[in-house]
Amino acid sequence: MDLSLTPELEEFRDEVRTWLEEHLVGEFAEHRGVGTSSDDVAWDVRLAWDRELAAGGWLCMGWPEEYGGRGASIDQQLVFELEYARANPPYKATAAGQDLLGPTLLAFGSEEQKRRFLPRISAAEEFWGQGFSEPGAGSDLAAVRTKARLEDGEWVIDGQKIWMSVGARAHWMYVLARTDPDAPRHQGLSMLLVPVDQPGVDVRPIRNIEGGADFCEVFFEGARTAEDMVVGGVNNGWKVAMGALGTERGTTLLAEHLRVQREIDLAISAARSTGASRSAVMRAELASSWSAAKIMEWNGRRLIAAIKGASGGDAATQASISKVFASERHQRIGEVAIRAMGPAAEVVGPDYELNPLQAMYLHARAESIYGGTTQIQLNVLAERALGLPREPRRR
Ligand SMILES: Cc1cc2nc3c(=O)[nH]c(=O)nc-3n(C[C@H](O)[C@H](O)[C@H](O)COP(=O)(O)OP(=O)(O)OC[C@H]3O[C@@H](n4cnc5c(N)ncnc54)[C@H](O)[C@@H]3O)c2cc1C
Repeated sequence: MDLSLTPELEEFRDEVRTWLEEHLVGEFAEHRGVGTSSDDVAWDVRLAWDRELAAGGWLCMGWPEEYGGRGASIDQQLVFELEYARANPPYKATAAGQDLLGPTLLAFGSEEQKRRFLPRISAAEEFWGQGFSEPGAGSDLAAVRTKARLEDGEWVIDGQKIWMSVGARAHWMYVLARTDPDAPRHQGLSMLLVPVDQPGVDVRPIRNIEGGADFCEVFFEGARTAEDMVVGGVNNGWKVAMGALGTERGTTLLAEHLRVQREIDLAISAARSTGASRSAVMRAELASSWSAAKIMEWNGRRLIAAIKGASGGDAATQASISKVFASERHQRIGEVAIRAMGPAAEVVGPDYELNPLQAMYLHARAESIYGGTTQIQLNVLAERALGLPREPRRR
């Protein structure tokens, strides 16, 4: 893939760099690298940062202008993502709406839904939770049992969702619900947009391994939403949900290697200061971690080439390859970092305060689960990339 920048892109890169230098200051700079895609650590600072980005026109850049974007090309988005990751700002607080629901609405939403919701997502004003998983319906998402029925021009929803990232902050949820109980499993589902602030929605936080309680289970008991709050047509929810998950597996990984490289630098410093670097095994592990970050970078480039149609490769397949490799290797890198820290790795600060390597080690455990588990991605690759026999499926 040709990575040389045209003069226009160089100019654009300089604009991004200058903006970041001028705005990533003060408390934003003090919170460099803080947060992940699924926690609400330092929420207020991260939200203020998202709004700073929105004011600069840097959120949802690829969206059309009428929905709050700036119609940026894929190359511009890529240049931005790389510059952005290099600057190491706080992790965006409201990324779920921007990276997951937004593209889904652009692809499947009605004009009214796009006008109503997208500008508020790109302005970091309204936050969204993803209500897909249920107890008994995770990898096997078509087993969803939450039901919705039409009553007096409104959908009435009953059921339970679980593992909703940053759900405790959400104003709205996009919920996969069974709207035709008699249809085959994949055909009777719809994706509904549901306001949280109503008596029928009960959000219960779940404390996670990193100490945060932004993760939630959500109970719907007679919850209501308007009839036109269905995305992509009634009983078409499977297709819409697969579109949303495809986005989750793809774009979020493009500049991840830069974050990982920084973590490896921290692990190297830790190994030097504890003396762990005197071990040849540790040195080999750190070198192997560094190589893995390089492979993540190349996987990201392959994904871009596939998205742009420049490689003849299939973007969904490449996204699965990137996800399996990155999540598995990131877990191993976390283990190396913890060993590099020595016994200090077992001690947390007051109020369960974690240092960046401890937080990374714990968070990486989730990466092979969310957005489609490693085993499911391997099944997908076996079937779609290698042409192996399909796994038996329930109808
Ligand atoms: C940090 C985090 C954030 C999340 N955020 C959200 C969110 O915002 N919204 C949301 O809806 N969900 C969210 N999830 C849930 C996530 O999508 C599910 O956990 C995931 O899909 C797996 O489902 P499960 O937990 O039910 O596990 P299961 O599906 O029960 O899987 C258990 C194990 O069995 C394996 N397995 C299952 N089926 C197969 C198969 N056919 N072949 C081989 N192996 C198989 C799995 O790989 C896994 O190892 C989040 C999860 C995490 C960890």
